[in-house]
Amino acid sequence: MPDTATVTTPPGTGDAPVRRRPALSPSRASDFKQCPLLYRFRAVDRLPEVPTKAQVRGTLVHAVLERLFGLPAGDRVAPRAKDLLAPTWAELSAASPEWTELFTDAEAGETDKWLASAEKLLDAYFELEDPRRLEPEACELHVEIELGSGVLLRGYIDRVDVAPTGEIRVVDYKTGAAPREIGEAKAMFQMKFYAVVLWRLRGVVPRQLKLMYLTDGQSLAYTPDEAELVRFERTLEAIWQAILKAGKTGDFRPNPGKLCSWCDHQAHCPEFGGTPPEYPGWPEPDAGEETALDRAD
Ligand code: SF4
Repeated sequence: MPDTATVTTPPGTGDAPVRRRPALSPSRASDFKQCPLLYRFRAVDRLPEVPTKAQVRGTLVHAVLERLFGLPAGDRVAPRAKDLLAPTWAELSAASPEWTELFTDAEAGETDKWLASAEKLLDAYFELEDPRRLEPEACELHVEIELGSGVLLRGYIDRVDVAPTGEIRVVDYKTGAAPREIGEAKAMFQMKFYAVVLWRLRGVVPRQLKLMYLTDGQSLAYTPDEAELVRFERTLEAIWQAILKAGKTGDFRPNPGKLCSWCDHQAHCPEFGGTPPEYPGWPEPDAGEETALDRAD
């Protein structure tokens, strides 16, 4: 782990309860941009959502890739990665037993078919790069930085590679089932978010932001510049101010669009004839936390 990133223990894993300041994460910032009411349902009301098998598969594949980079370089081959799937799934499903309820037809070998579909994502990964030739500085890196304006940014970066010359590459694996064109703007927003965080933590603008789409075996690389990150930082500050303003009054408006089909909360949404629960007030301590599912979309 680098010494320049703030690394903290996930909430609830230490001896004492962890109280954390409200922060902005890329997933929650994207939610607010997409639909303020969706942000409220997720970050303030914290309404439960039932993950899809594709989301859980994404979490599994991310965990396997993280473990793969924990192996000696020469062992990072596709068969070893596939061997990691079943034991990693055993651990994840023990930690979140509700995920096993997604699989109802054991006799039809539903779980085996699902694990086989995760193998395909790993095959796509190995088509894109050879992990034996890489030595990432960090995987699943928790980062946190307070901007000059007082906005606290927080997130998890799938992988950070640092070249001997000091150039930084931010890598994100995309495993979601949603069409790529729908997710691309969201993914780029997320990558710029991480670029701002790393730039402010280390004083170096990342050389490359790389998205690896494991469902279609393609990748997208982008080189940010400092002026762009300055503008993006202002955008993040404006989003946070808008969130705080809505948070005071509870005025989170719905903004319907094509992503409503992926929203779990139509039953509570006035756009679909529903009624939101009574506003519980601005949450303390934290309205910005991301789940493992958020991080693996
Ligand atoms: S259904 Fe659409 S408009 Fe309603 S909360 Fe969800 S994303 Fe927003």
